[in-house]
Amino acid sequence: MWVKMLEINIIDAFSDNYIYLIRNEEKNITSVVDPGESTPVIKFLNTRGWNLDEIINTHHHHDHIGGNTELLEIYKSKLIAPIYDKTRISNIDISVSDNDIINIAGTKTRVIHTPGHTLGHVCFYMENENCLFSGDTLFFLGCGRVFEGTMEQMWSSLMKLRSLPNETLVYCGHEYTSSNAKFAKHIDPDNQFLEEAIIEINNKRRGGLPTIPFELGKEKIINPFLRADDQNFIDNFSLKTSNSSETFRTLRLKKDNF
Ligand code: ZN
Ligand code: FE
Repeated sequence: MWVKMLEINIIDAFSDNYIYLIRNEEKNITSVVDPGESTPVIKFLNTRGWNLDEIINTHHHHDHIGGNTELLEIYKSKLIAPIYDKTRISNIDISVSDNDIINIAGTKTRVIHTPGHTLGHVCFYMENENCLFSGDTLFFLGCGRVFEGTMEQMWSSLMKLRSLPNETLVYCGHEYTSSNAKFAKHIDPDNQFLEEAIIEINNKRRGGLPTIPFELGKEKIINPFLRADDQNFIDNFSLKTSNSSETFRTLRLKKDNF
């Protein structure tokens, strides 16, 4: 059995962002994913006495890169970011594109280009650690708003993520779970697996705990945005359209106006 090497620390930022601080103790490497602000990251690093070796960005939005400059200055980290955002993210050291295999925190990581929320958005998948950093593409029970890409692009990006193994643990960019759960339940009121997930989610939120990470396998049966080609789901909720990306569009627009 593969023993996981990484410790993934969840840091709160702004009102509902998550920053992930990844620690590889054996190799003495520390990496941060999407530092929207620097202060909470610096604080955390200070309590552990770690340097910051790598900064990883999923996309160019300020709430994901706002801490880059200050962190780069203090720690002389390497900045890893999507090549597609090279004019929108400054100081990139290693620009990555779809299917690149790179080392993050000393661990083999695959870059998955997931256009939709933004055109350049990428996710980072660590097969040996069973984890995915999904930025603003896939959320627990939801998905990102489609700002720059087309609905079709977002749907095919989500299908790429859906094809990863069920045991994958997903670390997404925001704590949007409770409001996503309300919409999911509205769309799919009789889904018993969803019902069970919501009980767990509510318990965590009441205790002030993050609902992250979440399991991709479960998500495939409870996240409406991963089910636009699921015949039972479509039939039950009269979402029938000419194709699955149209169904996805219908769902996404319903959620935008929910
Ligand atoms: Zn974003
Ligand atoms: Fe965001």
